[in-house]
Amino acid sequence: MRAYHVRPGSTGRVRSEVGKATNVFWNEGKLSREERWKQFGARGGTVWFTGLSASGKSTITAALEQVLVQRGVRAYRLDGDNLRHGLNKDLGFSASDRTENIRRVGEVAKLFAEAGSVALSAFISPYVRDRNEVRERHVEAGLPFLEVYVAAPLETCEQRDPKGLYKKARAGLIAGFTGIDDPYEPPTRPDLVLRTDTMDVAECIQACLELLGGHGLLPAGD
Ligand code: ADP
Repeated sequence: MRAYHVRPGSTGRVRSEVGKATNVFWNEGKLSREERWKQFGARGGTVWFTGLSASGKSTITAALEQVLVQRGVRAYRLDGDNLRHGLNKDLGFSASDRTENIRRVGEVAKLFAEAGSVALSAFISPYVRDRNEVRERHVEAGLPFLEVYVAAPLETCEQRDPKGLYKKARAGLIAGFTGIDDPYEPPTRPDLVLRTDTMDVAECIQACLELLGGHGLLPAGD
């Protein structure tokens, strides 16, 4: 198993100001990340799926989660709509709320990764800056982060329209809809591109498994 450094700033030193909070301290616990992962025989990490609405993020992550868990990999899907039912129910779709949505999900994904799971996040996450911020937080913490661009042309997504959202956006019933009147900024250097207009779901899953295997996120021999 490849060794990962313990997160910078987690040396047990006092940090008395974090964001708005004062007098908060990092508590180190008794177990290092390496010990935890070694005990589980697996490494944690985040696989971040980004793409337009209806590009296929939910479909692919749901299928991938199932395949991984059936193989004994601790995988957990973080789905955009699902998290808006709870953790992010106070957020809407303004640019600042989208940024905060992604920041929170990034932090949750890090916790799963740290705990030894593979977090599969399925969020439109339209802004490069927000995704890069999440990547940076992972890199800083020494946690694997892979970005998967779920790419389908807008016309394809609009034809699929499984939730009828494009229709509503075109009718002016939803404002600030990504791809219609809010921008989607594609990744410039994704770890994987899934062209869901030309690849079927099984091919997409296979490509994801190869990506995970190549980064040591599957048990040896898998
Ligand atoms: P998103 O989560 O990105 O909004 P969904 O997964 O909810 O997208 O919807 C994608 C739609 O496209 C589904 O109806 C799915 O069956 C269809 N689809 C067709 N081909 C693919 C593919 N290769 N990968 C994923 N979804 C696909």
